[in-house]
Amino acid sequence: MQKNIFTPFVSATLCTLALGIGTAAHAQKTPPVLSQAKFEQCLHNLRAHKRFRAVRHATWQQYANQIQADATVLPLLNYQPEFTKPVWDYIAMLVDEERVQDGRAAYQKWLPTLRKIQARYGVEPAVVMGVWGVESNFGRITGGRPLLQSLSTLSCFGRRQSYFRGEFASALRILQEGSVSPEQFKGSWAGAFGQTQFMPSTFLRLAVDFDGDGKRDLINSIPDALASTANFLKRAGYITGRPWGQEVRLPCGRKNQFVSSRKNKRSISYWRERGITDVHGNPLSNKLVSAGLLLPAGSNGPAFLVTKNFDTLYSYNASENYALAIAQLSNLVDNHNPNVDFVTPWPTDDPGLSRAENREVQTILLSRGYDIGKVDGLIGSKTRAAIRAEQEKYHMRATGRAGQKLLRVLRAN
Ligand code: CA
Repeated sequence: MQKNIFTPFVSATLCTLALGIGTAAHAQKTPPVLSQAKFEQCLHNLRAHKRFRAVRHATWQQYANQIQADATVLPLLNYQPEFTKPVWDYIAMLVDEERVQDGRAAYQKWLPTLRKIQARYGVEPAVVMGVWGVESNFGRITGGRPLLQSLSTLSCFGRRQSYFRGEFASALRILQEGSVSPEQFKGSWAGAFGQTQFMPSTFLRLAVDFDGDGKRDLINSIPDALASTANFLKRAGYITGRPWGQEVRLPCGRKNQFVSSRKNKRSISYWRERGITDVHGNPLSNKLVSAGLLLPAGSNGPAFLVTKNFDTLYSYNASENYALAIAQLSNLVDNHNPNVDFVTPWPTDDPGLSRAENREVQTILLSRGYDIGKVDGLIGSKTRAAIRAEQEKYHMRATGRAGQKLLRVLRAN
């Protein structure tokens, strides 16, 4: 299949969920008022469109005739955490010790299945685990929005309607196929669903029945979900046995000669000649064969050489930060390494917080009387408002961002 099937925009569907940011982060934004009459006229027009030709009359009558538009999905169209959050905040939440521990437990539990998946698709178990952990926290967060309602609304209002019409048609075909029960057909605001958050069109193309019950089921069957992920990566060009890449060290004093150029793959000897070593200063081995340079925070932050296999992770969601989270999580699950930090620190004096640290911030805010809802490790709009109030109290910049500096101040006072 072609790479980068998701535009950067669509990637919001997936990572929004993994970070647990969604409506909560946008509760302060009032959704637009939508005309139900206009919506019904739009659905009527869609029915006649060629994209919906494969949807049978009975399917349409059963599922598409009584949908109410859901205006709350529209403000989410313009929010993409993997592009708007600093990379160190994004990675700190997605790759924390908790997720590594959870990943290790799930890895042990599913290893026999993962080995069978590896034998059929050639994708190593840890890589599949990385995707599963970042996409849905190993099946814990899969999204609770009715898919047809979200996709039909996005098909008729807002930007990207053409894209969502294709996904809406695909969603109806999935129900028609009987792969998913209508009650369970829920997911992210933009229509990604199941353990590994496939969009409906991706499901139709690439989901597989791995447990052999005759149904492709990414919601209830972990073997189906994990094998479908492996199938996705294989079709995106995954090379068996090739690492995704490695963290490297740029030559001191010449760092600013380098620019991030992931797609520009060069031989390892090319990078060796330019003074790049492994993180400990030793010569690069040849195991990557050919790689591009990834500098997620510029030449003064962590540096990586990444292979074509990194690009297959990128194609899952069209975000380098997202792919790096999967890559790092897969390494840590594989090695059972408790240290989630890269060797080179992020170029900031205020690094991001893990989910456990976010919960600590929330617990302190609650104890000070802020109405921030429940302690869940997810920084929503109420928590951000409370953080701004505390930042003002301690003469910090009132950004509403939860970082290490804020945590230190809250702990000390
Ligand atoms: Ca199955």
